[in-house]
Amino acid sequence: MERPLVVKFKRPDSIRDYPCGAFRVGTLVQENSGWRVFRPVIDTGKCIKCLRCFLVCPDGVIDKSGEDLEIDYRFCKGCGVCAYECKVGAIVMMREGDDGNAR
Ligand code: SF4
Ligand code: SF4
Repeated sequence: MERPLVVKFKRPDSIRDYPCGAFRVGTLVQENSGWRVFRPVIDTGKCIKCLRCFLVCPDGVIDKSGEDLEIDYRFCKGCGVCAYECKVGAIVMMREGDDGNAR
């Protein structure tokens, strides 16, 4: 069996050259079943719209079509990858219920 080709990583010149996330926003069909413990909350005042979170979200649930980014909590599993990758600290993980939001 042939081995897969290893391609040398080349840093993209533009954010447009990055590959899309695992799913396009709006393609998941199974809603979060309620096991999320923490939810990501975006501080739109701090957000510099670098789209890093959009690119790394494994479920593609961050919507960039509006003026500000929005998270579709029906599908977000609360993994925290977006908060970890946000370099300006614009995303905080809040325990469900602590910010006044129910699941
Ligand atoms: S990673 Fe942070 S700063 Fe960048 S778009 Fe997402 S929330 Fe905004
Ligand atoms: S917590 Fe995980 S699933 Fe939810 S928006 Fe962030 S990266 Fe996506």
